[in-house]
Amino acid sequence: MDSTLLSRRDIDFLLFEWLGVDDLTKRERFREHSRETFDGLLDLCQDLATRYFAPHNKKNDACEPTFDGERVSLNPEVKEALDAFARADLLAMSMDAELGGQQVPMAVAGAGLAWFHAANVGTAAYVLLSVANANLLSTYGTPEQIERFVKPTLAGRFTGTMCLSEPQAGSSLADITTRAEPQDDGTYRLFGSKMWISGGDHELSENIVHLVLAKIAGAPAGTRGISLFVVPKFLVDDDGSLGDRNDVTLAGLNHKMGYRGTVNTALNFGEGRHHPLGRPGAVGYLVGEPNRGLAAMFHMMNEARLGVGLGAIALGYTGYLKSLQYARERPQGRPVTPKDPAAPQVPIIDHPDVKRMLLAQKAYVEGALALALYCGRLVDVAASPESPAEAESAHRLLDILTPVAKSWPSQWCLEANSLAIQVHGGYGYTREYDVEQHYRDNRLNPIHEGTHGIQSLDLLGRKVVADGGANVAALAAAVTTTVAAATAAGGEAAELAVELDSTWQRLTAVTASMFACGDVDAALANSVVYLEAFGHIVIAWIWLEQLLAADGKTGDFYDGKRQAARYFFRYELPRTAPQLDLLERLDRTTLEMKDSWF
Ligand SMILES: Cc1cc2nc3c(=O)[nH]c(=O)nc-3n(C[C@H](O)[C@H](O)[C@H](O)COP(=O)(O)OP(=O)(O)OC[C@H]3O[C@@H](n4cnc5c(N)ncnc54)[C@H](O)[C@@H]3O)c2cc1C
Repeated sequence: MDSTLLSRRDIDFLLFEWLGVDDLTKRERFREHSRETFDGLLDLCQDLATRYFAPHNKKNDACEPTFDGERVSLNPEVKEALDAFARADLLAMSMDAELGGQQVPMAVAGAGLAWFHAANVGTAAYVLLSVANANLLSTYGTPEQIERFVKPTLAGRFTGTMCLSEPQAGSSLADITTRAEPQDDGTYRLFGSKMWISGGDHELSENIVHLVLAKIAGAPAGTRGISLFVVPKFLVDDDGSLGDRNDVTLAGLNHKMGYRGTVNTALNFGEGRHHPLGRPGAVGYLVGEPNRGLAAMFHMMNEARLGVGLGAIALGYTGYLKSLQYARERPQGRPVTPKDPAAPQVPIIDHPDVKRMLLAQKAYVEGALALALYCGRLVDVAASPESPAEAESAHRLLDILTPVAKSWPSQWCLEANSLAIQVHGGYGYTREYDVEQHYRDNRLNPIHEGTHGIQSLDLLGRKVVADGGANVAALAAAVTTTVAAATAAGGEAAELAVELDSTWQRLTAVTASMFACGDVDAALANSVVYLEAFGHIVIAWIWLEQLLAADGKTGDFYDGKRQAARYFFRYELPRTAPQLDLLERLDRTTLEMKDSWF
């Protein structure tokens, strides 16, 4: 199996030595599982990703989808990979048993899915979108919608999309203009254009289930007037067979920098090209209540945001492992001392600066993966709480950590990909090696599912201030518990605990001071700086947790964990001091900059 996709040793450490995920099997929801079923699932994911997804990753990049005006063509390996995934019963792996799911904990499922992201994000995206789509519809849809759309998706017959963005409305969904007209039979007809829709048209599946945001006439302005509809490419008859072609038309494909295996589309709804049930207009079925669509879509988006973070991590991780392998094999230069031009060249991994680049990548990708799996475990606890207090804590932690789990990997695992190119030197800049593609693929992640800037507004403008700061209090309690455990452990853990504690206290004080003067504009003008400082402090906490899990254990793996924790605390955490200074004085440089001064 390909050992440069991800590290199974690290995944096992995080899931079983740190997060104690096997303990989840004591809870009713997961009682069918055991360490053996988890191991089997992880083995299966690694095997399928290696055999069906990785081999066509470069081909997906070189031969992107095409549209001849009638049909979209994709590389045939994409369908073979998706069929293998569906045959292995992985589509419903974490869904409820009543939907045919296996109720695998999200922490384990996330680790399993990371193999597919690492092997081939372009192909994996079809699966992940379909699963998120089915998850949303199974939560908010009617029993009939579940029967008609969710079950065929989980069986691998249908695929799913999410249709939020429009050409003129990306970050600001309040401004969407797609309209839904109510019909006498309780259905709706949709009219409008959607932009950037991943997986929007293809022939990989019998049908495509679009989840579409639109406004019903007379709805309130803004996000409170948005409703959610299920709009299939083909109508589905009562007996489950496919009926008329719906009035959803592919207007064209977008040609992207990366993620080229995933077809990305502009779709027109109600253009009049097709006449379902004898007349134009895209037939849509309301999901949930009118005007409550965005709340339901956020269900999918939160899941999708954790998924985006995981994808960024997997790309960063595989780039790291590939550059590590390269650094061990590439001879170049000699040690600084003793200076001896006649001595044989050393592999570049012997140069401290190359070790710095590898250590930075290790600290970013292993730190981010740990956060992602921690969030997965929170989802599991929230789905099977042992007390109301435990449920509330899990929900609050997820609320505050989701923008970080999306944006931190999107920034720093992308930086890891840049360092992986640097380790390869000139070869890294060529298409002969994989790392330049990983960088291009990963560059999407700070853009979609809410840009970096939008995540920062979500964190500072919503999550931090919600319920009088209750989310921050939940995180503070978790950080305090870690600091206490590290203090009790003594030695290096106790030293790092002092640093984490003082940085956390500073963050808390700065956060309070930012809102004390009531100048919301000045506070939010620096929300990205806040997000980035906050993210680094969260990852430092996660590294201290890993250090504790490695405490007293010997061997290269654990020594590597300790060195990466040390690196993060010495090279990365201090970056937050000037950021916190800037936030504390409510710097107005960007706020006061004028358009005409550029
Ligand atoms: C490859 C790809 C796949 C995608 N897949 C899907 C999909 O399947 N379904 C779907 O619905 N969408 C999809 N998207 C759309 C994606 O979610 C949007 O591109 C994203 O939300 C940004 O919207 P926009 O492109 O209109 O940029 P804009 O919203 O115009 O943003 C441009 C810049 O302005 C900043 N900005 C905007 N508003 C604010 C503000 N209020 N405060 C501060 N800064 C702001 C942004 O951060 C950004 O830097 C995809 C996009 C891409 C590129």
